[in-house]
Amino acid sequence: MPSTEDAGNGDDRAQVIVVGAGPAGSAAALFLARAGVDVLLLEKSAFPRDKVCGDGLTPRGVQQLVRMGIDIDAPGWTRTRGMRWVCQGRQVHIDWPRSGSAPDFGLTRSRHDFDDLLVRRAVAAGARLCSQTKATGPLTDRAGRITGVSALVGADRRPKDFHAPLVVAADGASARTALAMGLERDPRMPIATAGRRYYRSEARTHDPYLELWADLLCPRTGRDLPGYGWIFPLGDGRVNVGLGALPHRGPGAVDLRATMDRWLERLPGHWGLQEANADSPFRSAALPMGFNRRPQYHRGLLLVGDSAGMVSPWSGEGIVQAMEAGEAAAETIALALHRAPGPGREQVLRRYPREIERRWGRYYRLGNTTAGLVFARFGYRPLLNRHVMASPALVRTLARLLTHGTDAPAGDLTDTVVSGLVRMVPLPGRRAGTGPR
Ligand SMILES: Cc1cc2nc3c(=O)[nH]c(=O)nc-3n(C[C@H](O)[C@H](O)[C@H](O)COP(=O)(O)OP(=O)(O)OC[C@H]3O[C@@H](n4cnc5c(N)ncnc54)[C@H](O)[C@@H]3O)c2cc1C
Repeated sequence: MPSTEDAGNGDDRAQVIVVGAGPAGSAAALFLARAGVDVLLLEKSAFPRDKVCGDGLTPRGVQQLVRMGIDIDAPGWTRTRGMRWVCQGRQVHIDWPRSGSAPDFGLTRSRHDFDDLLVRRAVAAGARLCSQTKATGPLTDRAGRITGVSALVGADRRPKDFHAPLVVAADGASARTALAMGLERDPRMPIATAGRRYYRSEARTHDPYLELWADLLCPRTGRDLPGYGWIFPLGDGRVNVGLGALPHRGPGAVDLRATMDRWLERLPGHWGLQEANADSPFRSAALPMGFNRRPQYHRGLLLVGDSAGMVSPWSGEGIVQAMEAGEAAAETIALALHRAPGPGREQVLRRYPREIERRWGRYYRLGNTTAGLVFARFGYRPLLNRHVMASPALVRTLARLLTHGTDAPAGDLTDTVVSGLVRMVPLPGRRAGTGPR
């Protein structure tokens, strides 16, 4: 990508710096550039690069890609019709809703290609990408307000400072920039771990469903995995197989790798999910969930995606949340930049955490409670018992809850039930939008 060659040699000043070019950072940079804002996107890696992920998107994610102008009809995308949940010898298919504004299909694509496409889109819109540029810490003024970031640039790790009055932290689960600005993780919020591996599987690579397994056992403890396993088709001869879990409430740690090995032994041999067909090592990473880092705006710094713990506590999905938050942050910044620096601009910037709360607050609080009371103790099996699996209405409701189908409504009875349930969650105290604890 041309701008990669420019890494760190161009102008080191901008109206906004975005740290990290994953889905959150690329979305923020894209919408900022579209709004005419001069934006520098700093990324420690060189594209294309890998990211440990399940590579699955629900229709809500597809909708966001369309908003971002990504060509989802181009080769390389695999469409899905819905989800297939498997539990104790039973399975149920849940097609994505056909009504409502979101597309009626999901997508898969390896993050190797996906993130590359998104960052290219941001650059095409006018964002200035500096890849191989690792932000090492915030620059601040005397009042503790961020004024830029220091970084190490290129293969020779040259130190360089970048300056901007506003910075977006999109540096993923490490949340290095937010931490350095004093924004600690809330330890009461769930944090899961997930791991995945690619396999060559002609039998499963064109499966039209995202397959999810709810009855995996941890071999060491003999207890239910406090999470679920997945097999996602990539359409290129490969599947993405993985599992994610919360820390167990109770004795015994979760060993993801051992649980995956035991699970794969149960699967039909002709699926090909054996060592001989493995196409990558098994790799795992943290899933910061449930808004575990607040406030999402603090002294010139806006947090988006994993750096703010925006992974859904219901499902472990985080790509769409990252992209939507990137857009919301960009919108807020574009408006704020029309105000002179000072209290008026601050007032606009402080709307960002309030907007996130308005969109997702209740849904996330209900999810955090469910994750603590149910998923962390028993996994997903109680929700997928034989009574639920035999009832299409209950299965639809569950699917809508798990995939955050509540604020892009399909407008059917299931939505009415799910939205009603979410609306029963009380509003928060003053915490969202206040200073760091
Ligand atoms: C095993 C696994 C499976 C998952 N499966 C799914 C799934 O199927 N669907 C889904 O929706 N979500 C899934 N998720 C969650 C999803 O991967 C994340 O929520 C999503 O990637 C968050 O996007 P982000 O842009 O906030 O962070 P990231 O994607 O982590 O991007 C952060 C970027 O910042 C860069 N960076 C980091 N530090 C610096 C620095 N100091 N300076 C410059 N750049 C820096 C990184 O290189 C990276 O490019 C999964 C997660 C895991 C671990």
